[in-house]
Amino acid sequence: MPPRVKKIKREYADADAGDADYDAVSSGEDDAAEITMKITKKKRAPKKVKTDDGDAEGGARVKAKDENAPQKIGFDITAGPIQDEGLHAKYNAMNLDELKQYMKMNRMPSSEVGQKNKRIVYKKADLVAHCVDGEKWGRYPLCPNCGKRGTTTLRVTYADENHGGQGTWKCVGYYDTVLQSVTRCSFNYKEDKDAPRERLPWRKPGDEMSDDEQDDVQAGMDKPVVFPDDMHAMAPMEMSKKMVEICREHGLQLPKAENEALRECYTKLQASMNYDDEYDIKTAFNLLKEAYPPLTKEQQAGGADAKNPANTKLCQALEAIFQAAKTSPEEPMKSASYRKAAQSIREIDFEVTSGIAISKGKLKVPNVGPSLGAQIEFWIKNGYFERMEYYERGEIPPSSKK
Ligand SMILES: [Zn+2]
Repeated sequence: MPPRVKKIKREYADADAGDADYDAVSSGEDDAAEITMKITKKKRAPKKVKTDDGDAEGGARVKAKDENAPQKIGFDITAGPIQDEGLHAKYNAMNLDELKQYMKMNRMPSSEVGQKNKRIVYKKADLVAHCVDGEKWGRYPLCPNCGKRGTTTLRVTYADENHGGQGTWKCVGYYDTVLQSVTRCSFNYKEDKDAPRERLPWRKPGDEMSDDEQDDVQAGMDKPVVFPDDMHAMAPMEMSKKMVEICREHGLQLPKAENEALRECYTKLQASMNYDDEYDIKTAFNLLKEAYPPLTKEQQAGGADAKNPANTKLCQALEAIFQAAKTSPEEPMKSASYRKAAQSIREIDFEVTSGIAISKGKLKVPNVGPSLGAQIEFWIKNGYFERMEYYERGEIPPSSKK
């Protein structure tokens, strides 16, 4: 069996390596000169003219683009005074691949959203500034809401140059493998966005990658995840059973039916196999955690509050039926539709008084179609969803079958 996980990671790294039109990095003896130049400069060097497309007007076009360049939000650490001369020299001497490796290891972003919602892809100067910032203050903390997915870090906006590594924290959400889209995070509605957050130790290449996986295993879990020492020696079926046990103990939302859960654990263990045909238990657990994340505290409480408080109960009911449907044999897209509807209803200002009304016409809410509209209508009148009892028994409701 091919080592699927490792391959995916590699493809991801490859895709990232050639993505943007960063400034060319000089190598060899030019480096020293460039370092001195950048240290003394307060402003970013003008963009070098790209000539690789052979277009004679390239220079003019780049210049025009620069004038319309999106503005960063908050204090710009790239344009501002250098935070630490020594660290700046260290990172500025690196090439783009090295800088990106640091950023990736520390789960720092490769771009940010600036004013007018324009995405700013980081160039070398940005990567250097962020690496300096990261080593000086630590890497960004995980989001307390969606950090259970393991990799969702907060981003910071500094007020001014005396930020001390703290500012307004924001979560960009996470990619939901069930919904196959980015899910926005309610961390951003919280009032303590400006509260100081503990930043995590900065990682450097050479730090064990297994250490990274261990971090992933523990990230966002309520109690430490421990794999028994003899697990490696177990036969695949026995190992899968142990994995189901561990996943359930830590609240991963595996399928309710035991044979389905077992099959999932077995599949993920197969996928974790390394080049020596050994199972990588931590990687398998991380894959399971990604596919069946434990409920966050907020989800346990029925999800975030709705913008209009009158809709909160409905959103909680939709979250509950989503969770129940997800662990039943229901089609993933049908289960996901409940959560998508809850997310849309959370965002609206008016109170939902009719499921039919929000499924079409003037009051149509995204992700609420005729079928879901009728189900919501029923919920408003009766206080429960007809399909819920089937999902809770791990069955498919008759009305959902074709
Ligand atoms: Zn979040």
